[in-house]
Amino acid sequence: MTKFLYQCSTCGKSYRRDEVRYLCPACAKQYRPGIPLVGVLSARFDYGAIRKKFKKANPDWALFSAVEKKYYLAYPVGGTPFHPVAALGRELRCENLWVKNDGLNPSGSLKDRASFLVVAEAVRLGEKCVVTASTGNAASALAAVCAAAGRQAIILVPETAPKAKLAQMLLYGARVIPIKGTYDDAFRLSLEYTARRGGLNRNTAYHPLTIEGKKSVGLEILQQNKFKTPDVILVPTGDGVILSGVFKAFQDAKAAGLINKLPRLVCVQAETSAAIHHYITSGIYRNADRPHTIADSISVSIPSNAHMARAAVRESGGFSVTVTDEEILDGQRLLAAKAGVFAEPAASATVAALKKLRNSRLLERREQIVLLITGHGLKDVDAALKGVPLPVSVEPTMEGIDSLAARP
Ligand SMILES: *Cc1c(COP(=O)(O)O)cnc(C)c1O
Ligand SMILES: [Zn+2]
Repeated sequence: MTKFLYQCSTCGKSYRRDEVRYLCPACAKQYRPGIPLVGVLSARFDYGAIRKKFKKANPDWALFSAVEKKYYLAYPVGGTPFHPVAALGRELRCENLWVKNDGLNPSGSLKDRASFLVVAEAVRLGEKCVVTASTGNAASALAAVCAAAGRQAIILVPETAPKAKLAQMLLYGARVIPIKGTYDDAFRLSLEYTARRGGLNRNTAYHPLTIEGKKSVGLEILQQNKFKTPDVILVPTGDGVILSGVFKAFQDAKAAGLINKLPRLVCVQAETSAAIHHYITSGIYRNADRPHTIADSISVSIPSNAHMARAAVRESGGFSVTVTDEEILDGQRLLAAKAGVFAEPAASATVAALKKLRNSRLLERREQIVLLITGHGLKDVDAALKGVPLPVSVEPTMEGIDSLAARP
């Protein structure tokens, strides 16, 4: 760990680590449920100290961490594969296309990274119980890490969350409270819950270490790419915390002198859940009314980290796109069939976006492009089966097999 201060992303005021827990106390007064969070905190490190100690030949990433390693759990999170996907690239007219497969985390999504760091913080603070609202993955990640840490996870999810994600949370031993309402309702209620009952709140962006935890995926990409900044990273976006975390990784690395350029970040949202997209393209914020997308992990009406996410895309020189459910399912099939990577719909939205952009001037053929695959396809098998019909069964004979060929 390196020393850091929390800086408010709204007013710029700095706080010592143990002076604050969630939002900037000055700005939090302007926050009310129904709008994106204000006063989200960001950890600002002593970059000069990191610069002196960090060695590319033998990188000590703990220098970029906001929690001491002694509080880490012996539970492997991250270290996921980063590899080229040439056949998919040919399909999408990209000569240098890569995948960072974070679906291969222990609970099957990138959310494990945020949960890991927040639970380390719970250990440091001596909090026995960690609470979160979630569309599904943050909850299954928190439940998994809490199980390994011997802490209680309390989870508020919309009752419509995919079954596999609910099964995960229950098996990991979390206290699961399905809400008759949306993710946004669960978010509001979980803030009320910890305000009244205590425990550590892990809500995305509300706890600043969710951004720091997600940052680790960007640092890993940098190391796996031999300390060369990729040109472009496509990021599936709901609340905008992954986007902010990936940006923070490269911003921190730049501040510490490891790189001198940032990747262009592409915000990918579902067409009906596009509050951040709208904010980036128009400069005007408004909630997404009635998000309804197959990509449940990016289905959100009031993205908690909208302000920071918009700034990240703009400062990186990136842009934003939306995709339809049909395009997402097509992207899911393409990624599986051309790269051998089975991703859940939210993660597949990146492939859909790239396909949509293949003739645009926003990307160049030779650039190194990275698809951030945030969640595993087995998280939502029902969604995947909407994209492919199950073949009919046949008699267990050669004639049976041949009868299939005869079908139209
Ligand atoms: C949470 C999640 C996202 C979106 O992350 P935000 O920080 O909410 O923008 C994308 N894909 C998957 C699989 C997720 O679980
Ligand atoms: Zn502030």
